[in-house]
Amino acid sequence: MHIINSPACGACQIRLLDVAQGLELSTKERAILEHAQRVVTTTMPVSMDDGSTRVFTGLRVQYNDALGPTKGGLRYHSEVDAGEVQELAFLMMLKNSLAGLPYGGGKGGITCDPKKLSTTELERLTRSFVRALGTTVGPETDIPAPDVNTGAQTMDWFVDEYEKMVGHPARAVVTGKSVSEGGSLGRDSATGRGGVYLLEKYAQEQGWSPKETTIAIQGFGNVGGWFARLAVELGFTVVAVSGSKGGVYAPEGLAKAALETALTSKTFPAGKEITNEELLALPVRVLVPSALAHQIHKYNASTVQAELVIEMANAPITVGADDILAQEKVVVIPDILANGGGVTVSYFEWVQNRAQESWEENKVNELLKKSMLDAYERVSVRRKKVGNTLRQAAYHESIERILNAERARGRV
Ligand code: GLU
Repeated sequence: MHIINSPACGACQIRLLDVAQGLELSTKERAILEHAQRVVTTTMPVSMDDGSTRVFTGLRVQYNDALGPTKGGLRYHSEVDAGEVQELAFLMMLKNSLAGLPYGGGKGGITCDPKKLSTTELERLTRSFVRALGTTVGPETDIPAPDVNTGAQTMDWFVDEYEKMVGHPARAVVTGKSVSEGGSLGRDSATGRGGVYLLEKYAQEQGWSPKETTIAIQGFGNVGGWFARLAVELGFTVVAVSGSKGGVYAPEGLAKAALETALTSKTFPAGKEITNEELLALPVRVLVPSALAHQIHKYNASTVQAELVIEMANAPITVGADDILAQEKVVVIPDILANGGGVTVSYFEWVQNRAQESWEENKVNELLKKSMLDAYERVSVRRKKVGNTLRQAAYHESIERILNAERARGRV
């Protein structure tokens, strides 16, 4: 294991920080926000099913701990690298602060193509990663969770290996576990559900009826899948969904039953076949990118016809594209606000684990709704003051809380 303290900052979070213009950061404050406190790099030789050995690289970035233990997901993807994970950890720092959670921000990942690994290989890889991270993670220090291509099973293996290593029960070391292993009811649907609460709120503010609110969703995994299912339940018209293998468009709307079958069988409902790129340019009222980062960039941003974009993925819009969308008067509910439902219910899971409690799903969903709408309200009020985009207002709100904690600790 190799720990770098104060590594060179990734370029992305510096560009993202420019969104906070108007906050007038001192040189020291800027330096704190631009740099991850700790980047842990691990190298893991893992036995493959055919008897060969492959060496994998894993990363964990603990970006800033002023508000509490660092917290954020763990992704398995072939494009995972230090720059990407630092950018995502920076966003987690802002997201956790904006949601009012007692957490700093973190993120991790393993560079691999999980679709080419068997379940037993994924289990050995996960357990190797836990041993390689050692006690740099823990319920009081850094708490991972699911992210792209990881889920409850990954977290269950994580806890099992971690407890073996430390020699005592420590369920709160990760969140997003199976309910039987201490996971929270409502965690699986939480990210999608949180986004739908904001969709509902925004539609009410605009006087849009759910039926006339057409929606296109890029990404048909946990987040996009739950968003689609819950939006349709409320009467919204989901006309298109897409995933890594393509997508479908049905202008009259996808039926709930067809969506359910598609989600359980991991196939697409019937409709006109479209590509991921075509989905972004559909004539819909609401566009919901809920797959990977940087999908809307300066070369395709002007093709977006939607009036509202809800960023359910992390960083799906590049900085250049954000400017184009703002000029075109497309409203963006930014990732650090829109997809904060996942980590909010992760926090509820952590609290339940530490108190040895198990809450009913209704309680979880009600607390989630309150938290999402409170954050939306704070950002909306802030936007009226700073007079620009919701993203800028969300950054101001979030960074102010982090810097207050930094000041109280005497670090700035
Ligand atoms: N991976 C999710 C996110 O990006 C959840 C993180 C967590 O629950 O800690 O927000």
